[in-house]
Formats: sequence, structure tokens, C-alpha cells
Amino acid sequence: MMTDPTFDNVFDELVAQNERQQVFLRLLAGLLPGVGLRLLLVDGSTVVAGAALALRPEREKKLLESARKRAGVVALKDGKGGWLYAMELAELEGVLFFVLPNKADLRSHPLGEASVHNGVRLALMMQEQEELHAQKEQFVRQIGMLKQQHGKLIEDNYRQYRLNQEKDKEYAKRLESEISQQTAELREANARLAEISRLKSDFLANMSHELRTPMNAIIGFTELLAETQLTGEQGEYAQTIRQSASSLLSLINDILDLAKIEAGKLELDPQPFDLPEIMKNVAAMFKIPAHAKGVEVFWSFDKRVPAQVWGDGNRLRQILVNLAGNAMKFTERGRIDIVVECIKETEQGVLATFAVRDTGIGIPEARRQAIFEKFTQADGSTTRKYGGTGLGLAICQQLVALMGGEIAVESEVGKGSTFLFTIPLVAAREPVKIAETDGAGKNAAASPVATSILLVEDNIVNQKLASILLSRQGLQVGLAADGVEALAQLKTQEFDLVLMDVQMPNMDGLTATRKIREIEADPAARREYASLRNRETPLRIIGLTAHARREDEQACYESGMNGFLTKPIVKDKLIAALTAVQ
Ligand code: ADP
Repeated sequence: MMTDPTFDNVFDELVAQNERQQVFLRLLAGLLPGVGLRLLLVDGSTVVAGAALALRPEREKKLLESARKRAGVVALKDGKGGWLYAMELAELEGVLFFVLPNKADLRSHPLGEASVHNGVRLALMMQEQEELHAQKEQFVRQIGMLKQQHGKLIEDNYRQYRLNQEKDKEYAKRLESEISQQTAELREANARLAEISRLKSDFLANMSHELRTPMNAIIGFTELLAETQLTGEQGEYAQTIRQSASSLLSLINDILDLAKIEAGKLELDPQPFDLPEIMKNVAAMFKIPAHAKGVEVFWSFDKRVPAQVWGDGNRLRQILVNLAGNAMKFTERGRIDIVVECIKETEQGVLATFAVRDTGIGIPEARRQAIFEKFTQADGSTTRKYGGTGLGLAICQQLVALMGGEIAVESEVGKGSTFLFTIPLVAAREPVKIAETDGAGKNAAASPVATSILLVEDNIVNQKLASILLSRQGLQVGLAADGVEALAQLKTQEFDLVLMDVQMPNMDGLTATRKIREIEADPAARREYASLRNRETPLRIIGLTAHARREDEQACYESGMNGFLTKPIVKDKLIAALTAVQ
């Protein structure tokens, strides 16, 4: 047992500083009971408490040297400084241990020297194990902590996730309500637009009625005037009025067409038609006036194009008339060719190119695009020199587009121009009936089938014009200003045919026609009507309307009418209609 106070102090101090050595010491004391142990720590370079060991200086030096060379040596010495033994303890990280038991105690100890040796080893292993255990516990603690943290993280994440979900739900709800609000607004706007469009379309229809009605009278009466006894000068004036009225009517039609196109109301009316017939007609329209100024008009038809075609023949004619009219206007000599060529045969028909070629003034390159815009002409002097409004090509372009094509122009100033468009043509399945009501055809020569006609028309001027035209055909004419008057007339007088205006105050033409058909179906009521009681077939009723729209035509037939006539009432058209309706 060491009693030296200095040694004890140093030892205690060192032990206190080093937890691990303390633990080791405790373990060793437990393993070697009764062995007086002291532990001296050396830091690897200096024997801290060397003096207290009372070593001889040379011995101490040696020990120090070996300690320097072999860090990690443990040596056991007796209390008087005699060495018991030494051993390596690398596990203690290079710190040297000097265990100093009492030699006598050690020898007399029942365990003996070997036991001390083993005890030291065991203590070291136990310490190591304890350390490992402590390490393991720390790991477990760390793992626990990590788990806790991790759990918290998961919990946090989950909470965040729920929060986000809530937010998303709220956002979706807001979005939904916004969308439904916007949808409602859009629906409302749509309904408003539809209403505006309907008003526009009604306005167009009314305009067309209002404009055509007086034109009807001007043209009709001028025709009547021209048939009276006139001086040469008066005849010329009448002729001028007739021509001006016709060009005004065609201008009105152009403007109405354009308005309809822009309102998206212009629809094609496909029916079977005879294409060469149309081309021949268009060429014939211009042949005489062209010849008069030294221009010849030709037309040619590619045999690969089917003659009987399914499409809107009237609109195709309108395009060709427009183009040929321009060619005529801007050509002083040479020729005008109206041609159609097959580009490609398709399953249903062909792809065909129509061309109207002239040898006229031509169009400068810079203006070739602009002339297709409405109200645009090639140059400012055109109106003064040639007249026109700049609407024709704009309408042609839209019509061609409706037919699935595009219009283009090739031109050379001073040499001429070619306007061309390519459209698909579908071959007609059924043979085409040449329209029987079409102008002064052969039917015009046939005598009308009726002898007495009831003319139902609210416009006094039109009433007068139509009744004069009819009287001149040797027909008896009764007059009524609306549907109510018409029914009253039919009650008291016998008529073979009714010319029924559609738009009238009090009772319109469609209602009146339906009433007539109802009366015809009721034998008791029928007996009261002079015009109906003795008939074997229904009374013939022809509608008169300013609207050339398809729905108007359909409405006429649906009400029970047998025919349909658009204003202005032209003599030939009227007679043709009267003879056609059997
Ligand atoms: P408008 O003939 O009523 O003026 P268009 O739209 O039919 O209106 O034509 C627009 C312009 O294009 C014409 O004013 C004319 O300057 C030019 N144009 C059209 N066709 C021809 C042509 N065959 N030759 C020369 N110029 C033409």
C-alpha cells in the first residue's frame, strides 16, 4: 500500500481526470480482492509521479525509454519498487499503467500471480465490454431519439399534408365556385350574343323587306311605263330609270349579302344543278353587250367534270356573273373566257378550277391583294371611270370559301387578268330538273291556269303593280290588304288562286293560309266559303315574300302554300309561277 501523500494526491488527481482509468481500477479491485493496487498514469513522455515511486534514476530512465518506444505497456511492481511484471495494454490508447501491488500481499494472495495477471486482462476486457455496452446504450438512445425525431417528422409531415389537403380542398372549392360563376356569366353573355345575333338577323330580314319593296315598285312600274305609248325621249328616260333601279337593286343585294356573310347567316343551299347550263347562261348574259364594244365571250367545259352537280348553283352563278361582269367592265377589246377544268377526280366527283380570263387593263401587283377587301378598288380613279362599289370580289371570296375553296388572281398590267378558284364538285345522283319557274322560259308562253286571282298584299303600290300585271294577262283580280280581309273575300267571291303576301298587319299570310287549310278540312265551314265549297282540289296559294331565305321558303310550304315567289315581282316570274303551280 502506498502511503506517500504526494503520490496519493497526484494519483487521485490523475484518476479523477480520467474516467476510463477509474473504471478500470474499480474493476481490477473487484477482481483481485486483497491485492493492494495503485495505479500510476504516465502520459507517454513523462513519468508523472516517478519520484514518488522511489526508483533508481537509471531504472526510471530505462522504464521511460521503453515506455516511449512501446506506448501501451502495463507493468506491475511491488511496493518497494521491485518489478512484478509488465504487459501491453494497447486498448488503453497509448497510456501506460503502473499497477503497484504489495508484493507480499500478492504472493500470499490465494489467487497467486497468474490470477493477478488474468485479473488485469479480465478487467480490461470487462471495461471494454462495459464501454461497448455503454456505446450500445448510447446507440439505442440515439436510435430512440432518431425514431422520436423521425416520428415527429412523420407526424409533422402528416400534419402538413393534412393542412395542404385542407388548403387544396378550399382552393378547389373556390376554383369551382369561380368557374361556375364564370360559366354562368359566359352563358349569360352567350345568351345575350345569341339575342343580339337574332336581332341582327331580324333586322337584316326587315331591311331586305323594306329595301326590296320600293325597288319592286320602281322596277315594276318602269316596266309598265315602258309598255305605254311614249315619245322617244320618254322611252329613254324610262329605260334609264329601269337600268338605274336594277343596279341599285343589285347593290342592295350585295350589301345584304355581305351583311349576311358577316353575321354568319349566309348558308349555301345545295341542290342538283346543271353546270354547263349555268356557264352557258353567264356567257350569254355578256355576249351581246361585249360584242357591241368589240369583246368576244367564250365558255368551255372540261368533259371530265360532271355536268350534273350537287351544290348551290345560284351562288356559283353569282360568283361567275360577278367575275365576268368585272372582266367585261375592265376589257375594251379582245376576249373573255369562262372555263372550268378538272384538276383531280375524287371519289364523289372532281376537284375543279373555274377561271374567268380577260384581255383587259390588268391589275398592278401592289393592288392584287387589296381588291378582295370590301369597298376596295384597284385605284381611286376606278369609281369615276367604271363605277362599282368594291363589294363584288369580297362577296366572291366569301362565297368561294363557303364552297371550300380560295379565290386568286393572276394579272399583267395592260395584258389582262385571270380570276380563278378551285372547289370540290360533287356529282348529282338524281337528274337535274331545269327550273320551270326560271324567267321567260317556254312556260311563260303557256297560258296561266287560273282565271280569277285574289291578291293579298298590304302595300298599296305593290298591290297596284301586281294587279296591273295580272289584269294585263287577262286575269280577274280581287284585292285584300291582310289575312282577315282575304278570308272575307274568299267567303263571298269565287277565286281560283291566291297570291298571298307573307308579312302583313292584322293577320299574316302564313296564318291566313293555315286558316284556309283548316276550313277546307271542315265540310261545315267549307260550305260557307264561295271559293272553297265547290272545289275538288285544295285552293292554290302562292306566297309572296321579300325574303329570299331558305327558312322563309320552308315556312311558306309548312303553312300549306303550293308555291313561293320572291319580290320584286317581275312580270315573267309572276306568269311562270302562275303556270307552274298546278
Ligand atoms: P367593283 O367592281 O364594284 O369596284 P370588285 O370587288 O368586284 O368591286 O372589284 C374591286 C376592284 O378590283 C375593281 O374596282 C377593280 O379595280 C379591280 N378589278 C376587279 N376585276 C378586275 C379585272 N377583271 N380587271 C381589272 N381590274 C379588276
